[in-house]
Amino acid sequence: MKVIDILNQSEKTLFSFELLPPLKGSKGDKLYDTIEQLLEFDPKYINLTTHRDEYEFRTREDGLIEKRIVRKRPGTVAIAASIQYKYGIPVVPHILCGGFSRSETEHVLIDLNFLGIENVLALRGDGLKQEAVFTPEMNGNRNANELVDQIVGLKKGRYLDADLKNTAPLDFCIGVAGYPEKHFEAPNLNNDLQQLKKKVDAGAEYIVTQMFFENRKYFDFVKQCREMGINVPIIPGLKPIAVQNQLTVLPKLFHIDLPVDLANELSKCKNNDDAKAVGTEWAIFQAKDLIKHGVPSLHVYTYGITDNVKAIMKAVL
Ligand SMILES: Cc1cc2nc3c(=O)[nH]c(=O)nc-3n(C[C@H](O)[C@H](O)[C@H](O)COP(=O)(O)OP(=O)(O)OC[C@H]3O[C@@H](n4cnc5c(N)ncnc54)[C@H](O)[C@@H]3O)c2cc1C
Repeated sequence: MKVIDILNQSEKTLFSFELLPPLKGSKGDKLYDTIEQLLEFDPKYINLTTHRDEYEFRTREDGLIEKRIVRKRPGTVAIAASIQYKYGIPVVPHILCGGFSRSETEHVLIDLNFLGIENVLALRGDGLKQEAVFTPEMNGNRNANELVDQIVGLKKGRYLDADLKNTAPLDFCIGVAGYPEKHFEAPNLNNDLQQLKKKVDAGAEYIVTQMFFENRKYFDFVKQCREMGINVPIIPGLKPIAVQNQLTVLPKLFHIDLPVDLANELSKCKNNDDAKAVGTEWAIFQAKDLIKHGVPSLHVYTYGITDNVKAIMKAVL
């Protein structure tokens, strides 16, 4: 079932959990265990991240430097299908521009279609650690807007090989990302919203936001989107803080602010258990308020941690 249909058919706030594929070399059991712990909260769909190839330099025994390609969490396509069939819950795999040529993207989408996956979240991805700016793959999409265009083309049966005749359309519901505190590369929020509108005009059917810790930022963002003519559902992203160093790591990695009260409380914590308790309480406070305001769904960034997510769900359901 498509996410947009799930959202349109519901009058109350739904929930989705964002999960990560297991690290290369580990078994999938922990991921299934995580899902099983969350089933009681009736997630209407599950998001599954994608992790592109990174590269690193290693010194070989002969002293020469070797460049190695590393993908720490492969398997999004297979795991998405596995979850969908095992639990009967629609899965939304994330699809990236970064690290993929348009031809590789087309093959991923063909695979997903064969596997019965009907939803994708279309993202650009971040630049590599070694890159000052995001660099697309050769013949790859340069931004999420172009990726949405490609997926919409396939919905119309438009494959890269223009010689193909009588092509079968690949029908996906497409979500995209939005940033209440603006994307860090955008010169200002207004410019970022113009780029967001391009994604929606190209065919994105809903938006999932980056994490934020002050609901006012989400409400202002939605208001500005509506003023700009972006009328699709905007799903808030909720990140329960679970370890103390996220006080500094989250702003650095995700270019978001932590409000003074939350930052002060986290600073006082003596250990990760204390920080998790503060983060859980804060997320409950945010979630209750978002639900009260009738948000269509809550996208919970779980990072594979369930005890805090369960506590939040129990408090808000
Ligand atoms: C809900 C969610 C899930 C995510 N999941 C993943 C994941 O699974 N894997 C992963 O690697 N990353 C993931 N990310 C992170 C995301 O890939 C990064 O934030 C990335 O830097 C931007 O992706 P985007 O799709 O928003 O990019 P875009 O929409 O392409 O925007 C990127 C920047 O370019 C600008 N821009 C866009 N289009 C144009 C244009 N036509 N001309 C000029 N400027 C333009 C925008 O204003 C913005 O500053 C996720 C983010 C969110 C919010």
